[in-house]
Amino acid sequence: MKPDIGGIGMTSQRTRERLVQRLIDQGVSNISVLNAIRTTPRHLFLDEAMSHRAYEDTALPIGFNQTLSQPYIVARMTELLLRDGRPEKVLEIGSGSGYQTALLAQLVDQVYAVERIKPLLDKSRKILRQLKYRNVMFQHSDGSLERHSYAPFDAILCAAAPVSIPDVFLEQLMPDGRLILPVGKESQVLKMITRKADEFVTETFETVRFVPLCKGTVR
Ligand code: SAH
Repeated sequence: MKPDIGGIGMTSQRTRERLVQRLIDQGVSNISVLNAIRTTPRHLFLDEAMSHRAYEDTALPIGFNQTLSQPYIVARMTELLLRDGRPEKVLEIGSGSGYQTALLAQLVDQVYAVERIKPLLDKSRKILRQLKYRNVMFQHSDGSLERHSYAPFDAILCAAAPVSIPDVFLEQLMPDGRLILPVGKESQVLKMITRKADEFVTETFETVRFVPLCKGTVR
């Protein structure tokens, strides 16, 4: 079946426009990010029963106790990723529904998406293929365990919260590379860590709520 890219009713262009305006009101200003959100059919990344809510600024369930992140936070993290120049190679840990992956595919050269839950990975891979994004490589693995075979990266975006930052994330950053992720248990904060010549520089942003970074894989 062909994906309904245009969308009808609650998934229409007008509804998407309203979401973009809301993000602008909340302070998102990167035009490329806003344009990618405007044109990416978020409803395709949800089950049909949820798709009428796709353009609300809220996190939504995608099964397996996981959520499609709230558009505001997706926009915020993507904006930080692009803040100091356009990264070429990006590692995404916890690609879930694939929505963030689809945005990244439009904004950077190459995306390496890692997800520990196989059914989510299979579904997102299929949607991205339908949408004809060819610069994404998916991998079914626990992204906190070991270096990705394509490391190092210009940027790493992690959409699940570790209690403390795994060394293996930092080790995979190129010089000037940046890692964007939520950190914490009950109370989490959004952080960006940049690799400088001989140190890691940490910036801390708003409080956030993400699912935890988990160990192992699910078939
Ligand atoms: N950006 C995604 C977020 C999904 S929620 C979206 O909007 O759909 C976070 C995802 O991280 C979940 O799918 C979860 O399965 C995955 N995850 C958690 N721990 C992981 C790990 N160690 N390695 C890879 N993926 C992980």
